[in-house]
Amino acid sequence: MANPPVKKIVVIGGGVAGSYIAKSLQFHGNLTLIDPKEYFEIPWASLRGMVEPSFAERSLIQHKDYLTASRLIVSNAISITDSEILILEGRTIPYDYLVIATGHGDQVPKTRSERLKQYQSENEKIKASQSILIVGGGPTGVELAGEIAVDFPEKKVTLVHKGYRLLEFLGPKASKKTLEWLKSRRVEVKLDQTVNLEDVSDGSNRYTTSAGETIRADCHFICTGKPLASSWLKGTILRDRLDKSGRLIVDENLRVKGRNNIFAIGDITNIKEMKQGYLAKKQASVAAKNLQILIRGGDESKMSCYKVKSGNTAVVSLGRHDAVAQLPLTTMIGLIPGLIKSKDLFVGKTRKELDLDSGD
Ligand SMILES: Cc1cc2nc3c(=O)[nH]c(=O)nc-3n(C[C@H](O)[C@H](O)[C@H](O)COP(=O)(O)OP(=O)(O)OC[C@H]3O[C@@H](n4cnc5c(N)ncnc54)[C@H](O)[C@@H]3O)c2cc1C
Repeated sequence: MANPPVKKIVVIGGGVAGSYIAKSLQFHGNLTLIDPKEYFEIPWASLRGMVEPSFAERSLIQHKDYLTASRLIVSNAISITDSEILILEGRTIPYDYLVIATGHGDQVPKTRSERLKQYQSENEKIKASQSILIVGGGPTGVELAGEIAVDFPEKKVTLVHKGYRLLEFLGPKASKKTLEWLKSRRVEVKLDQTVNLEDVSDGSNRYTTSAGETIRADCHFICTGKPLASSWLKGTILRDRLDKSGRLIVDENLRVKGRNNIFAIGDITNIKEMKQGYLAKKQASVAAKNLQILIRGGDESKMSCYKVKSGNTAVVSLGRHDAVAQLPLTTMIGLIPGLIKSKDLFVGKTRKELDLDSGD
C-alpha cells in the first residue's frame, strides 16, 4: 500500500514561538518557515549587544543552524487563504497545517552579518556620545538604560517615559524599585512626558518634552516597543478572528477559533497572560504535540489544552549583575534576581534548547 502523502506544515514568524515549534516539527512533515530574516534573534539579549557587539554573535542564530530538515523562506507573509500563504514577492506557499507566530514586527536587516554591523554602529554611537536620551520606559528602554549606566557610568543618560511609572507590565513595586535603581546609577528619569522627535532632524542636540523641558543629548534611542505584527491578517480569511487589540483568538488547544488546521502561538494570541518568551515556548510545545496528533490522523479529543497559570514571573535585567524580578509571591531587585538573568541573558540556555553549543 502506498504511503500517505507527507503533510505540508508552514510556520509564519521565526521569533521565539515560531523557531521553537519549527524545530520540534521539522521531522513530522514537509516544514517551511517564513520569516523576514535569515536568523532568529534572542529578543531579550539585544540590549547587551548594543554595549558589547560581540555578545550578538551568540544571540543571532541562523535559522539553518537549528532547522536542518526544513525549508526557509526569507520574506513576509502578506495573506492567507484556506490552502495557501501569499508572500511579499507574490509567490504562494501551499499548506495542510499552518502555525501563525508573527508576534511583534520590526524593520531589521535580512542577513545576520548586516544585523551584526547594526549592533556595531549602535555601539559606536553610544561610545561617541557623552549624553544619551532614551525614549520609552518599558522593558527595552529600562534594560538599555541599565546596560549603558553599568558599562559607561561616565555618560549622562536621560530616560523619558510617557506613563506615570516605568515597566507598566509589572506591578507598582517593581516600577518603584526600578526607578530607585536607575536614579542610584545617575540615570535621570522623566515620567509622564513625551519627546518631540521632529525638532531634532536639524542635527541639534536639544530635545523638547511635552512638559516644555529641554534635554541636551548627543544621541537618542527610541525604545517605545515594536508593534504587534497582525495587521497583515486584516484582509485574510482570519480577519474576523482578530480581537480589538489585533490579537488572534485561539481555543484551548491553541487553534485559531473555528479553524481545524490553523494554530497561533506566542505574543500574537489573545491568551490573557503576561506576554513572555518562556510562555511562548510553552505554547509552542503544546501546539507541536497537538499538530502531531492531527498529522498522524489521531483522535482530536486527545489534544492537550494550554493552561494559563496565575502569578507569572518576569525578570528585567539592569546591567550585567542586577535585575528586578516579579515573582508569584514577591518583587525583588539587585544581585539575587540578577543571578537568574543578567550575566548571560539566557543565551546559553536558549542555544542549548535549540541543540546548539553555548557559542562561548
Ligand atoms: C527588552 C525585552 C526583554 C524581554 N525579556 C524577556 C525575558 O527575560 N524572558 C521572557 O520570557 N520574555 C522576555 N521578553 C518577552 C519576549 O521577548 C516575547 O514574549 C517573545 O519574543 C514573544 O515571542 P513570539 O515568537 O510570539 O514573537 P516575536 O519574538 O516577536 O517573533 C515574531 C517573529 O515573526 C516575524 N514576523 C512578523 N511579521 C511577519 C510576517 N508578516 N511574516 C513572516 N514573519 C513575520 C518577526 O520578524 C519575528 O521574527 C522580553 C521582551 C523585551 C522587549
